[in-house]
Amino acid sequence: MFNHLINSPLTNIICLFGHPIEHSMSPIMHNAAFKDLGLDYVYIAIDIVPNNLKQAFEVMRALDIKGANITVPHKETTLKFVDEISPIACRIGAINTIKNENGRLIGRNTDTSGAKKALKEANIDLFEKNIMILGAGGAARALAHSFIEDANDLVIVNRTSNRGKTLASELTKEYHKEVLYKNFEDKIFEEKLPSIDILINATTIGMFPDIHTSPIPKNYLHEDLIVFDIIYNPLETKLMKNASENGCRVLGGLDMLIYQGALSFEWWTNKSPNIDLMKRTIINELMVK
Ligand code: NAP
Repeated sequence: MFNHLINSPLTNIICLFGHPIEHSMSPIMHNAAFKDLGLDYVYIAIDIVPNNLKQAFEVMRALDIKGANITVPHKETTLKFVDEISPIACRIGAINTIKNENGRLIGRNTDTSGAKKALKEANIDLFEKNIMILGAGGAARALAHSFIEDANDLVIVNRTSNRGKTLASELTKEYHKEVLYKNFEDKIFEEKLPSIDILINATTIGMFPDIHTSPIPKNYLHEDLIVFDIIYNPLETKLMKNASENGCRVLGGLDMLIYQGALSFEWWTNKSPNIDLMKRTIINELMVK
């Protein structure tokens, strides 16, 4: 009945919970795809401070909000507010997508598959590579868990020691592979980066509006390095620009965003979104800025 109706009295609501959220391109990407398929859905970004997260999920149940994406900084804390967690999200310790099934909130993680697909499409093979991940938050957890089995060596670099150490020791224990944790300091980049093949930025450093900062001094970016910055706003971060100038191969976060988003979309609606449309919509939006 609602095939061509958008925003009727029965519109299905999908939310994004994050803080901050002004960098997010998920609303324009998902709303374009809903409209394209004539689905009576709307996607709304809501800025939720950490102290209000629990209430946000109560509201989600009360208003029968059909699904949600979870972004910075809530991916880990969300685990304790949902009713069911997929085995993969449980192992990772982070959720980025929720589906509301008759009041039961079910959490999954699509960042893992989104990142893997983005790397595969770019012909970047992780097998037996030495990988350094900057960050130990929700996204870093998803990437570390999905890449560790292929990697030869994995190093986690994070500002907050407890968080970095916890992730590194969890990985070491679970995969029987020694994972090193280091703090952000020039020494680790000087000593370790020359042997690293793939550097992944999973921190918020360089994300809009903080676009003139980079997590690593430019001089450490050697030309044999592949740099994957999962930030997608801006399309080219300061780190990516510095890496390109030093001759590195560079991949940004846009494709990962599209692929993780498409998986969430399929789960909520049982329909496949138009990936090209999602990508074009975001590029148009970010090029105008
Ligand atoms: P999160 O859970 O809040 O983690 C943020 C990470 O950034 C933590 O490791 C944090 O370190 C670090 N960080 C923040 N400010 C810092 C600073 N000034 N100096 C050093 N480290 C700092 O966030 P998340 O969900 O993992 O997201 C991280 C980034 O990935 C965001 O930019 C997000 O947009 C991007 N992302 C992209 C995609 C995609 O599809 N392309 C998907 C997911 C996430 P501490 O532990 O010290 O606080």
